[in-house]
This record gives sequence, structure tokens and C-alpha cells, in this order.
Amino acid sequence: MGVLKRYCDRLPVTDKTPAVNLEEGSTPLVRLDRIGGALGVELWAKLEGCNPSGSFKDRGMVLAVAKALEDGARALVCASTGNTSASAAAYAAHVGVPCYVLLPSGKVALGKLAQALIYGAKVIAIDGNFDRALEMAREAAAARSFAMVNSVNPYRLIAQKTGAWEICESLGRVPDIHAIPVGNACNISAYWAGYRDFREQGRISSLPRMFGFQAEGAAPLVTNEPCPNPETVATAIRIGNPVSADLAREAVRDSGGEFNSVTDDEILKAQLALAKDGGIFAEPASCAPLAGLIKLKAAGRLPEGATVVMILTGNGLKDPDTALAQAGRPVKIGSSFDELMEALV
Ligand SMILES: *Cc1c(COP(=O)(O)O)cnc(C)c1O
Repeated sequence: MGVLKRYCDRLPVTDKTPAVNLEEGSTPLVRLDRIGGALGVELWAKLEGCNPSGSFKDRGMVLAVAKALEDGARALVCASTGNTSASAAAYAAHVGVPCYVLLPSGKVALGKLAQALIYGAKVIAIDGNFDRALEMAREAAAARSFAMVNSVNPYRLIAQKTGAWEICESLGRVPDIHAIPVGNACNISAYWAGYRDFREQGRISSLPRMFGFQAEGAAPLVTNEPCPNPETVATAIRIGNPVSADLAREAVRDSGGEFNSVTDDEILKAQLALAKDGGIFAEPASCAPLAGLIKLKAAGRLPEGATVVMILTGNGLKDPDTALAQAGRPVKIGSSFDELMEALV
């Protein structure tokens, strides 16, 4: 059941809201004992890459698109580092409206570009970074009365709260630490709001500490100033001026959490560790939290025995180039049995 149905009594859906549904949400929460053991914590991973377009963006997009249809919008527009466009394009195709996507030229992972194109969106690559693409998409939405489905769309944040509700319901308790990558900072803000909802309703009795991880080359919430030329292998969080910066700061402050940054090298090492020691292939941005937890552990700052949930925001298959660059290559042999025996070491 998709999120609009599963959480119909908690989301702003009415009789007039179209029942858009790609069976998003209800993603697996997997316990990672090998990696958790090495870190001295009880580690859980929420596999948001299992959503229909392969990232958590679908949770918010389903409501944004349903509300756009309810309001009579005839087309969707968004700027994207990749996953928002893949998600918007998928839902636009599903409900049958045009979708215009603005991407920073050459900076989008291969799988995400393929997704936007195959779902039939009109993809426009601009000569500028994400922050500029966002400004342009805003102007286009106003000029043409298109529905803007970036995370500035308030319905995105509201429906992304479902991730926190699912974690509480699956675990039957609240984690001590919630670790999450931060780009535009909508998701960390949404999770915090979701946990707070459950606490207000008495469904949980405490709140997690919110740990937000950014890439060192795009870490405006760590340095506390906008980053004019964000650069990182984790393209989904290559953002210099986060839209929801204030909400995210509040989440971290009020929860007793922290922002921290990790290098591209640490992100790639974490991606490899997650795959080899966890059996999970997540895209680079999604691995920033694990890189951060490893860093905190090394500094003696990860509380022993804590329950930690990390959000694996997107599927590794979206960015095969980055994975192949560090994953090694197949062993090539001829077709004889002897060669095969030699290769089986
Ligand atoms: C969008 C995205 C993020 C960043 O989420 P924000 O809400 O912008 O902070 C992280 N990882 C992946 C895979 C994403 O697609």
C-alpha cells in the first residue's frame, strides 16, 4: 500500500485528492550486525532505494503530485541533482501529465538521467549548478503556472515524515541516533518533524539525536556559510545553499545532534564497506552517514551500544560509474576448465 493510503489519516488527503500510488514507502529496515558489531552499536539501515524510482524522493513526490492534480496543474517542473527528476518523471508518467526537468549539465549520475528520459520527461541540461537550476525552475513555474515539485513544495516535506513513522512502527521504539545525508536539508527536517508528531501523540516517549552528514566539498551546514562551488562525488548532496537550512539547524540543535562532514574518499570507502560487509548497494550520497559513523567511532564519540538508524536514501544502481571505478573488474579467462580452476581462488 502506498504512503497516501497507509497514512491517509495523518496526511492532508481529502475526498478530492487523487489516489496516486506507485506503492512507494513501507521500505525495509535491515539490521546490519557485521558493520554494527565493528562500530559497537545496534545498526539499522532503512533501504529507501527500494522505492519505485529508487530513492526516498518518491515519498514526498506522491503527495506533491496528488496535490498538484487536485489543484488543476497541467504540468510539473523541477530542478534536480538527479533523484527528484527521476521521481517527478515517474509520477508524471503514471498520472499522465508533462514533466520538465532542469539538471546541472554533466553532473547527474547516469542511472538518474536514464530514468528521467525513459519516463518521458523533457530534460533540460543547464550550464550552471543545482542552486542556479532551482532559481530557474522557480521562475519557470511562476511564468507558466506549472506545479513546482522541488522540496520547496511543502507537501514533499509533509509526506517525507512517513519515513520516521515507519521506523517507529517497525522498531517498536525510537532509535537513539538517526543518521542521514544532508543536501537541501528537507529530509532531515521531515524526519525530525515525523518523530515529533509521534512523540506529541504519545506513540513514542523519547526522540532520537539527529546526526546530519554532508560531503566536505559541499558542507554549508558544517561551515555555517553558503558554499558557492559545491563539489563532491556524492552528486545527490552537491548543494551549496540548502533550502531547508533553518529547519535542519533546529532539528540538530533541539535533538542534541550534530552536523559533520566526510571526505569523498571516506564516502567511497563506506560505500564499499556497506556492500561488502552488509550486502547493500547504496549510491554515494547515501553512504555519507556510514562514513560519518565510522569517523565518530574512530574519534571515540559514538556511544557504545546505541541504537542507530541510518537512512540509505538512494539505490547504488543509479550511479554505476562511481561504483565501477572502485569495485575492481571481472577476471578474464578463456573457455577451458583449467583456466577456471586457476581463477577460483
Ligand atoms: C535528495 C537526496 C539526498 C538529500 O536529501 P535532502 O532532503 O536534499 O537533504 C540524499 N541522498 C539522496 C540519494 C538523494 O536523492
